[in-house]
Amino acid sequence: MKPADPSLLHAIEAVVPGGVRSRAVDRLAMAHDASHYLLVPQAVVAPADAGQLAGLLRVAARHGVALTFRSGGTSLSGQAVCGGVMVDTRRHFREVEVLDGGARVRVQPGVTVRQVNARLAPYRRRLGPDPASESACTVGGMVANNSSGMACGTESNTYRTLESLVLVLLSVSANRTCEIGMSRATGRPYRHLLEVVEELTRPR
Ligand SMILES: Cc1cc2nc3c(=O)[nH]c(=O)nc-3n(C[C@H](O)[C@H](O)[C@H](O)COP(=O)(O)OP(=O)(O)OC[C@H]3O[C@@H](n4cnc5c(N)ncnc54)[C@H](O)[C@@H]3O)c2cc1C
Repeated sequence: MKPADPSLLHAIEAVVPGGVRSRAVDRLAMAHDASHYLLVPQAVVAPADAGQLAGLLRVAARHGVALTFRSGGTSLSGQAVCGGVMVDTRRHFREVEVLDGGARVRVQPGVTVRQVNARLAPYRRRLGPDPASESACTVGGMVANNSSGMACGTESNTYRTLESLVLVLLSVSANRTCEIGMSRATGRPYRHLLEVVEELTRPR
C-alpha cells in the first residue's frame, strides 16, 4: 500500500482540521464500493462545509492530486473508489429543508434517499428516483450518477427532478459556489453545467 505524502496530509489538515483519516484501517475501509474494484486512497477527508471543501480543492490542485467524492459507496462500476484522496461527503452535508408543502425539497448531498423520503412522507410526497439502494445511497451520489430505479424509469430520474444545484468549483482566481438551474423539460443539464464550469474556470 503506497504511503500517503506527509506534506499533502499536513496541507489538508490545515484546511480541514480534524477531518483527515490516513491510518491503514481508514484507507482500507474505503477501498471498496459496491463494484469489484479495489483501490486504496491515500487519505479519506470529510470536509464539514463548502468553505472547507473549497480549501481542499485548492490544496489538491497545488499538489496535483486527484480528489474522488464518495457518499454511500453503492456505485456498481468503481465510481466511488480511488488511489488519490477520497472526499467523504456523507459524514456531513446532511440538512433537509422541505419547501412549498413538500412540492420541493432543498437537500444537502450526504442525506440518503430514504431519509429525504421520510421527511417528505407527511406531505405525501417522495423523490422522483427510486433506486433499490435507497437505504444507503445519497442525494450526492444520485445526482452524479443520474440514478433512476424500478418505478421512475427515465421520466422521473434524477436529472428530470432536479431544479437547481449548488456547485463548489475551483477557479483560477477564486473559489466560489454557484447555483445553476436545470431544465426539467429536457432533462439534460450537462450541457449547461459544462458551460458554467468553463466560465468559472476561465483564467481572468
Ligand atoms: C443493491 C443496489 C441496488 C441499486 N439499485 C439501483 C437502482 O435501482 N437504480 C440506479 O440508478 N442505481 C442503483 N444502484 C447504483 C447506486 O446505488 C446509485 O447509483 C446511487 O445513487 C449511488 O449513490 P451513492 O450515495 O452510493 O454514491 P457513491 O457510490 O458514493 O458515489 C457515486 C458517484 O457520485 C460521486 N459523488 C458522490 N457524492 C458526491 C458529491 N457530494 N459531489 C460530487 N460527486 C459526488 C462519486 O464520486 C461517484 O462518482 C444500486 C446499487 C446497489 C448496490
